[in-house]
Amino acid sequence: VMVRRVTVLAALVDLAFWVFFQAIGSPVLAWLNLVSVAMYAAAYGLLLKRKNLPALALIWTEVIAHATIGTMMLGWNSGFHYYLLMFIPAIMVSGGWRAMVFPLAFLFLSYVGLQVLSNAVGAMSPISGAALSSLSIFNIAIFFAMASYTARYYYRLVRKTERKLQELATQDALTGLSNRRHLLEQAEHEMARAKRNGEPISILLADIDNFKQINDQRGHVAGDQVLVHTAKLFRSICRTPDIVARWGGEEFLFLLPSTGAEAAERFAERVRSTIRATAVELAGERIGFTISLGVSTLATGEELDGAVARADGALYQSKIGGRDRVTVAA
Ligand code: GH3
Ligand code: MG
Ligand code: MG
Repeated sequence: VMVRRVTVLAALVDLAFWVFFQAIGSPVLAWLNLVSVAMYAAAYGLLLKRKNLPALALIWTEVIAHATIGTMMLGWNSGFHYYLLMFIPAIMVSGGWRAMVFPLAFLFLSYVGLQVLSNAVGAMSPISGAALSSLSIFNIAIFFAMASYTARYYYRLVRKTERKLQELATQDALTGLSNRRHLLEQAEHEMARAKRNGEPISILLADIDNFKQINDQRGHVAGDQVLVHTAKLFRSICRTPDIVARWGGEEFLFLLPSTGAEAAERFAERVRSTIRATAVELAGERIGFTISLGVSTLATGEELDGAVARADGALYQSKIGGRDRVTVAA
């Protein structure tokens, strides 16, 4: 995508050159630039068809030929050689060391060779000092624009990838809730804050009742839909500081900051009755289901593991007590 955009930019620059060289009375150079435009158009077409290798070969040929012809005709100070430098970042991001070292050495030798040759021969078709100086400034400006554009493009690409990875590392793919690892990170943060402020923290473990039956009777996809539906309801029920995560298969963990035992029990009861009152539509059929919950409130100095284990014990009590209920841990 980036090379494609640079191709358009380069073609526009060459069109500007056509005007410039017509204006200063160098028709040969002017028409050469139209050849360049045609080459970029061809490269663009190849890139669209994902024929990247021939496209890159065409671009390399154009840039090297253009830099060579421009420099030899108008002299080193015309600044056509700057365009060769655009290949340095392109080479450096192109993969293995073989793909780097040889092109880089080739580019370096071409660059130095062109300078030596051009200085030895002198401008073969010199233009006026004023025209040369404006040409040089123009070339420097375009080089600045292209180099900063491509650098910025890579930066944005890296940031975008970083955000994607961050999402993959912290979220559960099916439900979009925090995953277990992310919850543990957030919990550490919340616990430190609770300790500073002397505020309580409560934990809820929620497990879907007889979930295996839903899977067995209606298939795994239906099971997944129930999980997605549950996650959505859980998220909508939470206050801003609450954190809800997919703790395991059909088990969810709520971390409730600034919430004591009584408020946590009330909240758990609300979560339970909300789930009970709604149904998921699966293949035109509305199916209801229930959840069981275990609640614990962190005792002073208690670690998260301990409180989760107590919530798990309470959840087990809810299950053996008949499911669809809330149990508060001792
Ligand atoms: P209980 O009321 O005692 O919790 O019974 P249960 O059937 O809900 O519990 P059990 O632990 O026997 O079964 C849980 C099932 O959840 C088994 C597993 O295949 C299913 N499961 C776990 N993760 C997923 C998932 O991502 N998608 C689907 N569709 N099923 C899952
Ligand atoms: Mg279950
Ligand atoms: Mg379970």
